[in-house]
Amino acid sequence: MTRTPQVVVIGGGQAGLAAGYHLRRLGVDFVILDGQSTPGGAWQHAWDSLHLFSPAAHSSLPGRLMPSQPGETYPDASHVVAYLADYEKRYDLPVQRGALVQAVHRDGPFLRIQADTGTWQARAVISATGTWTRPFLPAVPGREVFQGRQLHTVGYRRPGDFAGQRVIVVGGGNSGAQIAADLAHDTELTWVTQRPPRFLADDIDGRALFDVATARRRALDEGRTDTAGVAALGDIVAVPPVRQARDAGLLKASPMFLRLDRHGILWADGRRASADTVIWCTGFRPALSHLAPLGLRGVRGHIATAGTRAVDEPRLHLLGYGDWTGPASATLIGVGRPARDAAREIAELLKTAHCHRR
Ligand code: FAD
Repeated sequence: MTRTPQVVVIGGGQAGLAAGYHLRRLGVDFVILDGQSTPGGAWQHAWDSLHLFSPAAHSSLPGRLMPSQPGETYPDASHVVAYLADYEKRYDLPVQRGALVQAVHRDGPFLRIQADTGTWQARAVISATGTWTRPFLPAVPGREVFQGRQLHTVGYRRPGDFAGQRVIVVGGGNSGAQIAADLAHDTELTWVTQRPPRFLADDIDGRALFDVATARRRALDEGRTDTAGVAALGDIVAVPPVRQARDAGLLKASPMFLRLDRHGILWADGRRASADTVIWCTGFRPALSHLAPLGLRGVRGHIATAGTRAVDEPRLHLLGYGDWTGPASATLIGVGRPARDAAREIAELLKTAHCHRR
């Protein structure tokens, strides 16, 4: 049986919930399909020590402030999961769990959404599937011959799993720095980054990043010079554990190596380091494979958008993947505004579709 809500939101993480909040306010009939069996999106899978880089009040979705976490200025991931679960319940958002969407097809005036649990037909789709399910691994020679363990950020949980080991952490972003800091005390750590690590000033946290990202987007929208936004400030937020490890001299980065062999890594100058484990903190790509049947071309794995709307398929909106879908839209506080804009555009589209039917 095909179900026919006006709108299907694909993905029930923070972006999907923010979209749901605004669709509900506008009186749109919708459903949220989420591939996981429990609420919380990617936050459910974070490593044990992960804390937000902004205080709770600056990490809120529309309508409901995130309560502070007792004893923590920067809440941990379990607090975010609890907040998202509560948010979903509070606004009675219709999330269907365990519904992994395989494909979205054009179907006359509709889009047809095919999940492993059934088929939906809708006038519009908001895709909010995040990036966590699409870890990126660089093509470094020798990856297949290394005999130790290799994992990506998504597989990392806690330093105790690697106690006493020789561990290589690859990546100079926030995940790499935080995981390196986590491992610095209990392992023989080598932290490898493509360029020297760039720490943001210690007093800059997610609040400032949000302001900078918003100012950049405004400048671009108004045709002013690109300020380079957050990227101009540095790559790594100096959250307390990172700051402590850095100040203790435990976060010294080595340049990127040339290749791996059976036992470890080799640099271009002939140096080598043996390793038990390599952890690739090398980022993510947007999880968009379900949209492949729509044939929307894009640069760097993105789909061309005007705001959140796909330029070549106006019934499709993309939400939460990064700045290309709204300033800071891949953050808790940043996703609210693009979610509101997407919901409003869709409500307008539905009105037009309704007029044409009469
Ligand atoms: P997700 O949380 O990934 O949710 C997407 C949902 O869609 C998931 O439940 C997924 O299973 C589901 N899904 C995927 N594909 C399908 C499909 N085909 N069909 C159905 N369901 C599907 N942001 C902040 O605001 N503050 C921070 O301090 C912060 N720290 C971060 C630290 C790290 C290490 C990382 C990686 C990110 C951090 N972020 C932070 C960024 C951001 O908040 C997260 O990336 C956030 O999880 C993105 O939310 P989302 O809803 O877009 O995606």
